[in-house]
Amino acid sequence: MVNRIFNFSPGPAMLPLAALEEAQRDLLALPGVGISILEISHRSKAFEAIIGQAEANLRTLLAIPDNYRVLFLQGGALLQFAMVPMSFLRNTGKSADYIVSGTWSKKAQEEAKTQGKVHTAWDGKSGNYNRLPQQSELELDPDAAYVYTASNETIQGVQFSREPDVGGVPLVCDSSSDFLSRPVPIDRYGILFACAQKNAGPAGVTIVIIRDDLVQRSPADLPSMLNYRLLAENKSLLNTPPVFGVYMVKLVTDWLLKEVGGLEKMAAINRQKAQMLYEAIDHSGGFYQRHAEPASRSMMNVTFRLPETALDEKFLGEAKALGLVELKGHRSVGGFRASIYNAMPMEGVVTLRDFMLEFSRKYGRAGSP
Ligand code: PMP
Repeated sequence: MVNRIFNFSPGPAMLPLAALEEAQRDLLALPGVGISILEISHRSKAFEAIIGQAEANLRTLLAIPDNYRVLFLQGGALLQFAMVPMSFLRNTGKSADYIVSGTWSKKAQEEAKTQGKVHTAWDGKSGNYNRLPQQSELELDPDAAYVYTASNETIQGVQFSREPDVGGVPLVCDSSSDFLSRPVPIDRYGILFACAQKNAGPAGVTIVIIRDDLVQRSPADLPSMLNYRLLAENKSLLNTPPVFGVYMVKLVTDWLLKEVGGLEKMAAINRQKAQMLYEAIDHSGGFYQRHAEPASRSMMNVTFRLPETALDEKFLGEAKALGLVELKGHRSVGGFRASIYNAMPMEGVVTLRDFMLEFSRKYGRAGSP
């Protein structure tokens, strides 16, 4: 048995063991096919069944309405930062509203500026993106091309608990770092996209859920690979898709359906995991300092700092000795970030929590909850 440690990376991140074990088996030969998943044709019956099942699983998990297409694309979430404004902002004469809640929505806004006019509906920069806006703080343009939001900011660890109210304007959401972590009312969105490498599979495939009327509005003058309509009409097989990535999405969603029992159950587990770490932070007598405000906290990325940066290396070193790795925070926030996506076992979070309590007792004042 290989010794797997607890990887708290923001992504690529841990995958469910059951999915990895099945992939390990199919790496030599898919049962009944005799060809490796790495060798199989994307036009084969076997792959048709795999991509069909991946889509069906996503439709079941998220209750995706029939008037939405599910696409498996390449280029990561970052390509969606460009494809969205290329398709729905460029040449419209309108501007797009961006809710800037952290690094990734800021980056998306910068990309959009290459395609057209952009309006900032809210920007959390003054608080270094430690909280999300109230509905009343949003400056929305009722005639905007779309409203853009990131449901979870991976770097800052802030997560919307509900969709902003945007009236009839299409809502576009980057759900890369909380996709499949909880149920989502898809009908509130025009487009919801997510790179796979946090909760859905390995890097290399990006899932785009897009409403039919938007698919139909894709400008005809875009290159084919950037054209949602052509991609949808060809069922994501306009060219060779990321076969292995799609296959892994199928395995991960099989796990969510069969072993976890759906997204309500996944969300309850995620809340429990996050709460354990937030309690350790809140009850540390000020030893651990939070980044995100409690009302905006992410269930996926827990961000915190120590009272003095001189302790940072000790924290990382002692954590690593316990098999707890990739805890260093992003330089723009500092400190630490524990990314606890769906596949992070409860045991990993308990081990981290216990380590945090022990570390604060050793180096801090009171420390105990
Ligand atoms: N959006 C969010 C919220 C992310 O966390 C990331 C990656 N960490 C991205 C976008 C970029 O994804 P990709 O590298 O697949 O382009």
